[in-house]
Amino acid sequence: MTKADLFRLLVVAADAPDPLFDYAEVSRWPTGALEEMVGLQFVRPVQTGLTAACPHCDDDHVESVTIVSPSDDTEHPKYFIYCPASLRVEVTEAMCRGWTVNVDGLAAALASALAVSTPKPVVPGRLWRLGRMRVRDTTREVVFAVRLADDDAEALMRHVGTGGRAVVFVPHRVPEPTRWPGRVPAVVSLYDAAVLVDDTIVLDPHAVIEAIDTADRLAELTGGVSLDACGKKLVRAQVKAEMKAHLDDDMLVAAYTLNGSFDKAAEALSKQLEKKISRDSVWRAVQRAKKAGTFETPDDSASVSRSVASQSRDRGEKFAKYHN
Ligand SMILES: [Zn+2]
Repeated sequence: MTKADLFRLLVVAADAPDPLFDYAEVSRWPTGALEEMVGLQFVRPVQTGLTAACPHCDDDHVESVTIVSPSDDTEHPKYFIYCPASLRVEVTEAMCRGWTVNVDGLAAALASALAVSTPKPVVPGRLWRLGRMRVRDTTREVVFAVRLADDDAEALMRHVGTGGRAVVFVPHRVPEPTRWPGRVPAVVSLYDAAVLVDDTIVLDPHAVIEAIDTADRLAELTGGVSLDACGKKLVRAQVKAEMKAHLDDDMLVAAYTLNGSFDKAAEALSKQLEKKISRDSVWRAVQRAKKAGTFETPDDSASVSRSVASQSRDRGEKFAKYHN
C-alpha cells in the first residue's frame, strides 16, 4: 500500500460514521505512514475507552484493557486483556490506541489545494464553508461536507442553499441528486478527483469543471425547478438521457479545444479512455456544439482552464495542482 492508496482509504473512511483504525489496522500501513498522516492532519488519535485487539489470535478479537499500576516509580503501568485462548495477554500502550480520519484536517488540505479560505465549520465535523473559488470569469462558493449520502444529509444540504451555484466537495459518496432541496449543485468526490502527491492534495481540474458544467446543464434542463417539486421520475429519466448525450459531446469538444486539432483530440481521448475515438466523432461533436451555440473558441477555453485551475497543461500529467 502506497501513501496515495492510504489517502484513498482515508477519503472512503471519511464518509463512514465514526471510522476507527485500531492497532491491528494501522500496523498494516507502510512504515511511518501513520505518523505522516497524523503530521498532515489527515488522521488523529481517538479515545477508544482502552480496548485492544488480541495480538495472539487471527480474528483480532477486541477486549477491554485492565491496567496494572507499577509497584514503584521506576516502572510503567502494564496493560492486559483477557483472551479465551491464551487467557491473560499483555498488550502495549500503543495497542490500546485508536485512530480516526481528521475531517477538519481534510477540509484544510482541500482549501489549500483550491487556494481558498481557511474552512469555517458550519456543522462541526460535517460541513465547512471554504470561501469562493474562481471558475471562468466568476466565482463560486465552495463547501466541503462529509457523509452527505447519510440519512440525515438533508439538514446539511439546506446549508448549501438552493441556488445550485455552489461547488460541494465530498470525500467519496455523492448523494442522490433528488435529495437536494433546490437546484442541484456541483458535487465533486475527492475519491475520483483528487490524489495525494508529495503530501499535498492535488485536484484534477477537468473533473471539477465537468462537475460544475454538469450541474449548470442540469439546472437549465429542469428550468431551475427543484427536482423534488416536479414529476421527479419523468424529469430524472429525461435528464439522464440528455446528460449522457451532452457529456459525451462535451468531452469531445473539450478535447478539441485543449488539443487544438481534431486528430490530436482523437488521439488524446483514445489514450485517456482506452478505446478508439475517431477524428470524425470529435469533428461531429464540435459541429453540433457550434450549431447549438455552445462552442467556445480554443483561446477562450484555454484562459478558462487557466483561471480555474492548473499551472500545468502537460498532457501526460492528468492531475495538475490548483493555483490562483
Ligand atoms: Zn486472543
